[in-house]
Amino acid sequence: MNLPRIRAVLAAFTIALLSLSIAPAQQPVEDKVDLGALTQIKNEAFQHSQVMDNLFYISEVYGPRVTNSRNHRAAAEWAMQQMKTWGLQNVHLEKWGPFGDGWQIKKYYGALETPAYAALIGFPLAWTPGTNGSVTADAVLAPLHSEADFAKYKGKLKGKIVLIFDPRELSLHTEAEAHRLTDEEIEARTKTPDPSHTGFGPPRAGAAATPRPGEYTPSTLSTAAPTGRILRNQVNAFLKEEGVAVALTPGYNGDGGTIFASYGGSQDPKDPVGPPMAAITPEQYNRICRLLQHGITPKLTFDIETEYQKDDLMGFNVVGEIPGTTKADEVVMVGGHFDSWQGGTGATDNGTGSAVAMEAVRILATLHKPMARTVRVALWGGEEEGLYGSLAYVQQHFAPRDTMKKTPEYDKLDVYFNDDSGSGKFRAVSALGNAELAAIFQSWIAPIKDLGIESVVGLTAGPTLQPGGTDSTSFSWIGLDGIGFMQDPLEYGSRTHHSNMDLYDRVQTGDVMQGAMIEAWFAYNAATRAEMLPRIDTTAPTTK
Ligand SMILES: [Zn+2]
Repeated sequence: MNLPRIRAVLAAFTIALLSLSIAPAQQPVEDKVDLGALTQIKNEAFQHSQVMDNLFYISEVYGPRVTNSRNHRAAAEWAMQQMKTWGLQNVHLEKWGPFGDGWQIKKYYGALETPAYAALIGFPLAWTPGTNGSVTADAVLAPLHSEADFAKYKGKLKGKIVLIFDPRELSLHTEAEAHRLTDEEIEARTKTPDPSHTGFGPPRAGAAATPRPGEYTPSTLSTAAPTGRILRNQVNAFLKEEGVAVALTPGYNGDGGTIFASYGGSQDPKDPVGPPMAAITPEQYNRICRLLQHGITPKLTFDIETEYQKDDLMGFNVVGEIPGTTKADEVVMVGGHFDSWQGGTGATDNGTGSAVAMEAVRILATLHKPMARTVRVALWGGEEEGLYGSLAYVQQHFAPRDTMKKTPEYDKLDVYFNDDSGSGKFRAVSALGNAELAAIFQSWIAPIKDLGIESVVGLTAGPTLQPGGTDSTSFSWIGLDGIGFMQDPLEYGSRTHHSNMDLYDRVQTGDVMQGAMIEAWFAYNAATRAEMLPRIDTTAPTTK
């Protein structure tokens, strides 16, 4: 052993001693946990796991699952069948809405024909139509930054394949695509460096800024960002009127064959439908732009078929439950959104969160351990377009946000645990600024720290009390405990989130097994403890 290594070992030993001596002081309130139950949950989760099998069906058989698409419905039927097989009760679809049209891809072919053939890596943007057979046409570069650009291209785009975005500048990747949080990073996130920023208050400045066309992100589709929606509708109406054959974008992120893109149109049947649209890999997009800049007009071919589902415009959530034994009207919920974007198969967003929630209830149902409270699983629809499924659910069941007239169910909802941050291990749990909740969660994670969940975060910052990001915020929006886990990012931001590489192979088996085990353990503890969990504090000032 060399000297630095000895120093490191000594340092680690000293830290271990220090943490031993301060450990009791960090847990002022002990929540008694059932270690026998924990052993059984761990055995079921690690020896008989079905989480990857769930994921296989959700992503590889039924994916992708754009809200209200035929695939999404078929996936929901499968999930309900599974839940019934495991003995869940009251398994059903809960409708909300109307959401609007479902949509999915039936066919995509794209190629550069001249000056030399190349197959184009890409996929159609959601809620855009097909080409009605194969179209071969000249490429035209016509970046549309705002309505002011329309005049430049008026009358020049008929029958053309139009690149509506600037070429993208690409840089060398010098860092690993995947990342696991280090102990230092987790430690840093458990601290609140500046308590003057508590999380309460208006949304981040610039959050709803006008997007560039082609940079279609989920936030621009929601009513929270009307400017994005107006611009998208203007662009679609203009391109349609000009008789454009196909519109292309390079995606809003990604390279090296990975394309991040979501929608080009909207589920709202009243919004204008644009021309067929696809995102292609930015290297190939840039090649077409460079050819044009050199005075060479490439010919491109596209053959795109898409399917609008207009039979039933109502959205839906999948719900099932394990009834409680003595306090069945008190409810512990677990879940995640079931819908996805279309480029990949929605494996990490949010096949894993759905597979984990299903596996958590399967574990609990299989163990047949009595739980006083009902454990309910919900697989939301319409999350990607603006949390529609969970927002509708909490308002139907607990309290409409405008009146805040609480239903009897409001006081009986104990907690909702959400999983929607990719496929990474659970590394910490959020306590939404509630000190009592933090102490309880500390007791729950104390016996499972070896599995990589190390701490409670969000000790000072309260919830934003505004919906955004993911479905747990729909609960905290009306003052309920909507709890999320901090997960290892893995390749979520760099490779899979809303991309064509959101695929089964990018999911790490051990990570989702750990997530399912922890979600089952948290749900079990909540469903069996004497009292319901303390509620988040909603007395802080909010803007809405
Ligand atoms: Zn998601």
